[in-house]
Amino acid sequence: MSEETFMGVPRDKIDWKPTIDYSKCNYCMECVKFCPHKVYQVQEEAEIKLIVANPTNCVVFCRACGKTCGLDALSFPNKAEVSKKIKEMRTGGNGND
Ligand code: SF4
Ligand code: SF4
Repeated sequence: MSEETFMGVPRDKIDWKPTIDYSKCNYCMECVKFCPHKVYQVQEEAEIKLIVANPTNCVVFCRACGKTCGLDALSFPNKAEVSKKIKEMRTGGNGND
């Protein structure tokens, strides 16, 4: 995955992924059915039946599966902050663009 880049920055340096709030999630799996990128992994035998197994497969700035979750159990990082960090990485860390 490390060869993949987004706006010239290695994807694995960008902290963009869904986070599951297990106090809300009822494992309806709507998010899993919706996302074609294999970000989630179902673990039928385990107590925690759904995990974010491949966070770097998540499309940067996509939040689409969040809308499928009627229980509001999915959250994403702050877009403006992640955007700022990407810009900083592109300019060598000093943020002067
Ligand atoms: S859609 Fe929401 S409630 Fe359903 S499995 Fe995904 S995170 Fe859990
Ligand atoms: S935000 Fe988009 S790419 Fe990421 S897990 Fe959800 S649907 Fe998939």
